[in-house]
Amino acid sequence: MNIVFVASEATPFIKTGGLADVIGSLPKALQEEGNSVHVIIPKYKLIAEEFKQQMETVYRGNISLGWRQQYCGVDVLKQDGITYYFIDNEYYFGRDQIYGYSDAFDEAERFIFFSKAMLEVLPQLMDSPDILHLHDWQTAMVSIYMHAIYKQQAYYKNVKTVFTVHNLKYQGVFSRDLLGDVIELDRAYFHTEALEYHGCLNLMKGALLYSDVITTVSDTYTKEIQYPFFGEGLDGLLRKRQKELYGIVNGIDTASYNSNTDLALTTRFNDLKGKYENKIALQQKVGLPIKSVPMVAIISRLVEQKGLDLFIHIMDELLEDDIQVVILGTGEDKYQHLLSEIGSKHSDKVALQFFFDEGLSRQIYAAADLLLVPSLFEPCGLSQLIALRYGAVPVVRETGGLKDTIKPFNEVTKEGNGFSFTNYNAHDLLFTIRRALSFYNDKTMWEQIVANGRLEDFSWNQSAKKYNEIYEQLCPKQGTVTS
Ligand code: ADP
Repeated sequence: MNIVFVASEATPFIKTGGLADVIGSLPKALQEEGNSVHVIIPKYKLIAEEFKQQMETVYRGNISLGWRQQYCGVDVLKQDGITYYFIDNEYYFGRDQIYGYSDAFDEAERFIFFSKAMLEVLPQLMDSPDILHLHDWQTAMVSIYMHAIYKQQAYYKNVKTVFTVHNLKYQGVFSRDLLGDVIELDRAYFHTEALEYHGCLNLMKGALLYSDVITTVSDTYTKEIQYPFFGEGLDGLLRKRQKELYGIVNGIDTASYNSNTDLALTTRFNDLKGKYENKIALQQKVGLPIKSVPMVAIISRLVEQKGLDLFIHIMDELLEDDIQVVILGTGEDKYQHLLSEIGSKHSDKVALQFFFDEGLSRQIYAAADLLLVPSLFEPCGLSQLIALRYGAVPVVRETGGLKDTIKPFNEVTKEGNGFSFTNYNAHDLLFTIRRALSFYNDKTMWEQIVANGRLEDFSWNQSAKKYNEIYEQLCPKQGTVTS
């Protein structure tokens, strides 16, 4: 099967969150299943020079976008057996940030360009693929354009689309003016049964309508988003497409997230003694007293979704205990201010790092005893899976992928890989942290909990097979009979 992944980020080139981890690792697992996978992402200015120097330009041309003619280049680079294509346009991607431009029209235009450019240039790059696998709102226009225009071309006639929702919260809702000015689609698309959404255009809604299959990144989230509370206004549409909607839990790149081999660590380890050396190194690095106390970490975008309101509410109370807290995150100023305000009262116990740093994140996973993920909702969540690989025990709220991946420790059966609570309640979080820490001083018990997590298989092996089944259903090989 020939599969083309289209996404807005991918490790090791560019990362702001879990999407990049997925795009950087799932293609390898799919290729091991016998597929051929190509990945297309924008060529951002922020991609490291070391990669840019290895790229080769394979296409130069122009793309029309409404009344605009925009340059479009394509660079190629092979990495770990996967071919990556980078869509190049200085005006759209030669910027200091990859998302979050305050002019929404401009933000939309950048990814509409990316989607259209990808569809225009693909025939120059390869024979017709079987599947276009699209990820999140930034690539939703691919599905819409396929439905409106490209399916009529011989090259795309038999190509199927799979759209994966990594987070339903971010839908790409923009002004209706885009339709004529940038997208160039018939006004019939501005309709409640099409892209119209409360007077605006909703790109993700279009992808949910027109893609052949929709997937999300865990089973529980797939169920949750069919209810109004989690459905972000699209639960009705998701219920309508229930038959084509699948939940496949994310895996992680277990070769990269490996405490025995991770070059970002001061000491690579496979036991608690080695882990302790990482704790000392981190305490030194972030300016905390060097001592043997439980370390609680958060590594997260600082947004409402991640349950920071719960943590902030109990932070003072938690810090009465003899513990240390390390937080690595970027996001809303509001959370940085609140965390800083409380953190400054406990400067001998709290280290706050408000920036994005892949190496430091790995050092924190390696040093911490608990990783908190008390999310309001969580499509899958990768940080709890990474934590398990580094012997940091997750404390999570039972929602979405957190519920599917973290099983509460049972002291009688000795089963379970973490600790969890049900209600979105600050003191439930506090009590769950304290319950987890009550096992910390019982060395045998703690070793058992950590070992349970480290032994589990959160690689892509199982989930890649499930994606494969979906692809095969969509494109049955000649001669095979499907029900
Ligand atoms: P989301 O995609 O919603 O942000 P996930 O848990 O799925 O959350 O993935 C987050 C990924 O980003 C993980 O790999 C995590 O380690 C990483 N991460 C989050 N914040 C930072 C940060 N400030 N610095 C480095 N890595 C981070």
